[in-house]
Amino acid sequence: MAGLKTGHYKNKAKKKQIPRFARDDNSSALFRNLFVFVKEITMLDLKGNKITYFGHSTFGLTTPGGQFAMIDPFVMSNPRCPENLKKLARLDAIFITHCHTDHIGDLLPLAKQFKPKVVATFETYLWLESKKTGAECLPGNKGGSQKVGDFEVTMTNAFHSNSIEDNGERIYGGEAGGFIVRLPGGVTLYHAGDTNVFGDMKLIGEIHKPDIALLPIGDVFTMGPREAAFATRLLGVKHVIPMHYATFPILTGTPEGFRAETKDIAGLTIHAIKPGETLG
Ligand SMILES: [Zn+2]
Repeated sequence: MAGLKTGHYKNKAKKKQIPRFARDDNSSALFRNLFVFVKEITMLDLKGNKITYFGHSTFGLTTPGGQFAMIDPFVMSNPRCPENLKKLARLDAIFITHCHTDHIGDLLPLAKQFKPKVVATFETYLWLESKKTGAECLPGNKGGSQKVGDFEVTMTNAFHSNSIEDNGERIYGGEAGGFIVRLPGGVTLYHAGDTNVFGDMKLIGEIHKPDIALLPIGDVFTMGPREAAFATRLLGVKHVIPMHYATFPILTGTPEGFRAETKDIAGLTIHAIKPGETLG
């Protein structure tokens, strides 16, 4: 993935996390405070994996071994995707949460070009098979796990609609979902897909213990900041990347709104990375 902007965000985050009292004074009482502060912040260690934001709800995951997977391939037609990311070097796997155009807008050309393994719910799998892209289509459904190269994925619930636009027709794509992705080194990521908050996010938190959650905050079609804050509490997650906002004017939720709604959650770090930025 040549040309990815790496390291930049990490440095910025480090600088922000030095509390004022630690810079101004170094008496023993203040060092004790610093110790408590450091204990509260759970540092994010991605164990050599990288998470790259392509804008909207599209993320690229690069493993230490160099495999590259994408969640929701909305790339070339994504208005938030930087030009330098629109030409992929490789694509080993695609995980599809649901089939609205802002999630699979570039699935067919990418499937044809790279012939990746594609995990999708059963009805979407059948549709993709019928397109004869040459990709290796892997069916799944909620609660089921499978190993896909360096990645292990579990499909989760999501509360959203789902349909495929195919030459002017609307085709049933199965139910919308989310993904738990286990990365090499024991890092667990949760991509919620498009959804509102739901009580069983607590189960997802208890069963999978995600290190980081990718949550929609844009409102109108998904959770806004207030519901996303409740999702964060239910999941018990300490690192969140907000997504599905700012792509179109109708998506009004903002990271600032999300920060305001979550300021009471101890030890939470919100990584509001910009399209083109990489975590890890
Ligand atoms: Zn969407």
